[in-house]
Amino acid sequence: MKTDTSHDLFTRARDLMPGGVNSPVRAFRSVGGEPFFAQRAEGACLIDVDGNRYVDYVLSWGPMIAGHAHPAVLDAVARTMRDGLSFGVPNPLEVTMAETLRKLVPSMQMSRMVNSGTEATLSAIRLARGATGRSRIVKFEGCYHGHGDSFLVKAGSGALTFGLPNSPGVPKALADLTLTLPYNDFEAATKLFAEAGEDIAGVIVEPIVGNANCILPRDGYLQHLRELCTRYGALLIFDEVMTGFRVALGGAQARYGITPDLSTFGKIIGGGMPVGAYGGRADLMRQVAPDGPIYQAGTLSGNPVAMAAGLATLELIQAPGFHEALERRTHELCDGLEAAARDAGVPLTTNRSCAMFGLFFSEQQVETYAQAIACDTVAFNRFFHAMLRRGVYLAPSAFEAAFLSSAHGDAEIAHTLEAAREAFREVA
Ligand code: PLP
Repeated sequence: MKTDTSHDLFTRARDLMPGGVNSPVRAFRSVGGEPFFAQRAEGACLIDVDGNRYVDYVLSWGPMIAGHAHPAVLDAVARTMRDGLSFGVPNPLEVTMAETLRKLVPSMQMSRMVNSGTEATLSAIRLARGATGRSRIVKFEGCYHGHGDSFLVKAGSGALTFGLPNSPGVPKALADLTLTLPYNDFEAATKLFAEAGEDIAGVIVEPIVGNANCILPRDGYLQHLRELCTRYGALLIFDEVMTGFRVALGGAQARYGITPDLSTFGKIIGGGMPVGAYGGRADLMRQVAPDGPIYQAGTLSGNPVAMAAGLATLELIQAPGFHEALERRTHELCDGLEAAARDAGVPLTTNRSCAMFGLFFSEQQVETYAQAIACDTVAFNRFFHAMLRRGVYLAPSAFEAAFLSSAHGDAEIAHTLEAAREAFREVA
């Protein structure tokens, strides 16, 4: 496998950017080795600067649910950008986006576009604090909500990958306002609310934890959080930056039948462009400037080209049967991976939710963060490289969920399973 061009680029990049990258997990630190540099992407595949082709289960960390470089998305972007890249005054596509969000996710009575998932979650907790007049927020161990100060407390994803769930640079006084809970533990949540419920502005949760691999909510757990928030006057915030439009057309809230007070989105709603959104109850959103006093703004927010890419993607995923087909593919793939691991004598379990899944090098089904971090990361790292050498790109961390797109067809699944049969034998 030729890697010279990537190697040369990485050598230059390391001198110019921390870790040679613009987002830490891309540096391959936890799996070892060097990252490849992408030249282009099409459908389910990435093609690197040395000409290697990979079936991609990272999909730019989630946005590319319709596959890379989908012609409908590229056409929408090309058409829109010919009229100008940014206006700084309202444009019609922002209105269509807010209407589309409300149509697909009814709890999004009103919304505000921002430029990343991080901005969406930061804005949502400011609103929760402003609206309730309370300071404390609750998050869950292993959940990642972007790199805002208040969230870098027992954070998952990249922070967890590098053993840095708490970051230097976050003032202790601020971190003290973030209370953390073990996800899927009913009693811990009840107890925390009994002790501090009157001080809690909001509970922010990844309804399916995609930043500690892929952990599904136990039966009734999200409902339990809903009831506690309602009882104590705290706001329930679903961070659907990852799960939104991926685990169901209406996101995890539709899948589990829970109505949060506020939600955050990103990734898919930008179709590959830098976008985020937060929104929810109209009485809360009307407290945001200029209707209300809670300030939040953005030079490029609602950018027409980003709206066009997002709207084209949201159009594609509304095709009848889109999510059902993805769900079937995920089962086919995960069943195949479990069988291949079993044949090689490698302990492996999977968690799945529609177009999102997690591989756990473990004997037991994983339901908690403690179980997720106890999995065999050494085995994962070896598997990761064995797959990469065979042209399959998984996330370069044992703590990241994997994603499928509608472009993952029979050929890609067959190639992945063939590679996995060999890779598991290497790991065993
Ligand atoms: N929330 C969740 C659940 C995420 O997975 C992420 C990013 O992966 C974020 C928030 C932050 O989004 P961004 O990286 O666009 O700032």
